Amino acid sequence: MAKKAYTKSELKKFEKNILEKIGEINESIEGVRSTTQPNNSVFIEERSEDFNEGTEAHEVEKNFLLMSRESDYILNLNKALQRIKDGNYGICEVYQKDAEKCECPDSPLITKERLMEVPNATKGVFCKEKKKLNLL
Ligand SMILES: [Zn+2]
Repeated sequence: MAKKAYTKSELKKFEKNILEKIGEINESIEGVRSTTQPNNSVFIEERSEDFNEGTEAHEVEKNFLLMSRESDYILNLNKALQRIKDGNYGICEVYQKDAEKCECPDSPLITKERLMEVPNATKGVFCKEKKKLNLL
């Protein structure tokens, strides 16, 4: 019979992977902050008289977007951590709603490879694609 959920030790591994990802993102957000803020502002002011203003504004905007996207990701990673606690992490969402509709190869589990790569995944690739095509 197919496995219905990941074991405790497997979940521990996923948890570690997620925490590492969160750490990486926090670092990269810090990095963005330190390049957009204080140090650079003098530089911006000095040159804002001419052509550079637009470019700098664009940079800041881009970094801002990046930051909000990253924090969305962190939010989703935190939700994933919660699912680990709840014990339903790695189980395809489609399966949880309607077991019959889930056609993931490892149903109901999302493959380990996918979870390591996309730790916030809530569906298996197969179900995700079907959802995209409105087949679910
Ligand atoms: Zn599925």
